Amino acid sequence: TAGWLFGRFAGLWVAVIGLGILLAIHLFYASLLAGWLEKPRLDDIPNGSGIWTQVFARLYRARRTTEQNERRLQDNEERFRRTISALPEGIVLVDLSLQIEWCNPVAEEHLGVSLTGDHGMRVTNLVRDPAFVSYMTSGRYDVPLEFRPMARPNTALEVRVIEVERTRLMVISRDITQREQVDAMRRDFIANVSHELRTPLTVVNGFMEVLLDAQHEDEATRQHHLKLMQEQAQRMSRLVEDLLTLSRLESSESSLVEEAVDVQLLLREVADEARVLSAGRHRIELKPARAFLRGNREELRSAFANLVSNAIRYTPDGGTITLAWLADEQGGGRFEVRDTGIGVAPEHIARLTERFYRVDKSRSRETGGTGLGLAIVKHVLLRHDARLDIQSEVGQGSTFAAVFPASRVGAPPTASTQAA
Ligand code: ADP
Repeated sequence: TAGWLFGRFAGLWVAVIGLGILLAIHLFYASLLAGWLEKPRLDDIPNGSGIWTQVFARLYRARRTTEQNERRLQDNEERFRRTISALPEGIVLVDLSLQIEWCNPVAEEHLGVSLTGDHGMRVTNLVRDPAFVSYMTSGRYDVPLEFRPMARPNTALEVRVIEVERTRLMVISRDITQREQVDAMRRDFIANVSHELRTPLTVVNGFMEVLLDAQHEDEATRQHHLKLMQEQAQRMSRLVEDLLTLSRLESSESSLVEEAVDVQLLLREVADEARVLSAGRHRIELKPARAFLRGNREELRSAFANLVSNAIRYTPDGGTITLAWLADEQGGGRFEVRDTGIGVAPEHIARLTERFYRVDKSRSRETGGTGLGLAIVKHVLLRHDARLDIQSEVGQGSTFAAVFPASRVGAPPTASTQAA
């Protein structure tokens, strides 16, 4: 009967059903595992039971290690790119057939290549300057290349190439525009100084020969020649003096020894110098005001004296030169030299403070100019946080003003100094 049957196989049924349940459980977890493995993400790893707890726990740990390693690798690569991107040099990685693999933003700017647009392009197809192309294809990179890209003719670049692991090349570009400018300035400066010295030396040599040759020269002529030689020697001394002053002002070591400079006294002194220089050929007016300037007295005096001597030298006889100190509303002040002289055309004004820049070379020389006066003025003012303001009209006259900020201008330091 059924009861008998049931009774007889009861144990078996229980076992079968038990096994079935166990199987179902394992199948369930196995399918969870299969599902998770499709998209193994740490936060949705299933919770197991029994042996599956361990399986999932181990998988979890293994996955976590992998993810950490991946993240570390990514971080490292990211950091590497950021570092290379931040370099002031341009970097382009190319393979041995010069195809671009990667470049940083500076290289994009220097060479006009693009990381996204030009990947896989030959760099020599993009930068077509003959000098660059022949350098890149030469295979000899021991000496860097210097060139001005056609696309950016105002920039000078230095290019070096380094072989990386025999499979690619690293092209490093550096902007050397400034260095080139400094080099050019130095060359110009040396050429200018040599030229300035050669002219008086030629004159002196010439007269010496005359003096040595002409035994029959009368005393008056001899005196005249000696006088001319002396003038040239003085001209050379002035030039050397000005050069030394400039170099002292430019060397950063000479720090500024500052004091409270009495502007009124200083202007009076400079005006006295002006009267000597003018020797009665001009009217010299002085409009001082009480003020004190924080700065180096000697440097300020030399700057002001330079402006005044220019006014005299570039103003025909009978003209008027006015020296004034004017306070401004912000608490600053300006030292002004106004003349009724020949004036300066607008196109020259911005360049007047360049060394040896002169509107009219012969007029400057005849009046004893070195071409360095305004360069000295500019440097002194720079060291005093001040600037040079030039207003001028050809044939009408000029105003050269040293403009000082409020931080440099003040009331007399103490009562006793004021009395003195
Ligand atoms: P320089 O020794 O030739 O006077 P500076 O550096 O003092 O050299 O001046 C540069 C040039 O600026 C002068 O050669 C001259 O052409 C022009 N200049 C300077 N001051 C005046 C002025 N007051 N009036 C007209 N031109 C001036």
